[in-house]
Amino acid sequence: MPPIDMTITALDHTRAHPRPGLGELATTRPDLDRAERAATELLLALGMPLGQEGMRRTPARMVAAYAELLTAEPVTMTTFPAETGYADLVVVRDLPVRSVCEHHMLPFVGVAHIAYLPGARILGLSKFARTVEWFARRPQTQERLTDQIAEHLDSHLDPVGIGVVVTAEHFCMTLRGVRAAGARTITSTARGALREDPHWRDRFAAATRG
Ligand code: ZN
Repeated sequence: MPPIDMTITALDHTRAHPRPGLGELATTRPDLDRAERAATELLLALGMPLGQEGMRRTPARMVAAYAELLTAEPVTMTTFPAETGYADLVVVRDLPVRSVCEHHMLPFVGVAHIAYLPGARILGLSKFARTVEWFARRPQTQERLTDQIAEHLDSHLDPVGIGVVVTAEHFCMTLRGVRAAGARTITSTARGALREDPHWRDRFAAATRG
């Protein structure tokens, strides 16, 4: 049984991480002048009235918006010894997810919930939001984003167990194509005790339920 009943994607944990060539950062720094020229050309080709007052600066704003969506600050993974003997779940809910689907370059937005059962070390709480942002601000799929957050935290924190749930709306699905307005996609992955131990699996599911 998957931990969340609406899970649509069963992630295969036997796969090697990360998959090469996928979900990578931009290979070069953005060339804003070139991007602005290209955005101008794209908008003109689409018949947009760029001569109008309100659209004169649109190519530059469009480029700035994409550059922001696709640029993240690296995260320093500050961990602390788990000295108090706290031995229950740590759950961080409703972390904002703002990403761009790699197939259409349209946004997908939602929230991530992360739960982990600490091992010898704990992670500063702000680092969870930063980790989500780091992996979200690049061309992504929701499945890979979920997997990468879990993999990164698992390898830096070495917890007894960790799980990640992402719920998001994909504008490429709700604004175009099938126009499934309001449709949300839920992905989840769990490792260690949160995957293998029925008690912790249930606790993870309950703690991250919408
Ligand atoms: Zn898409």
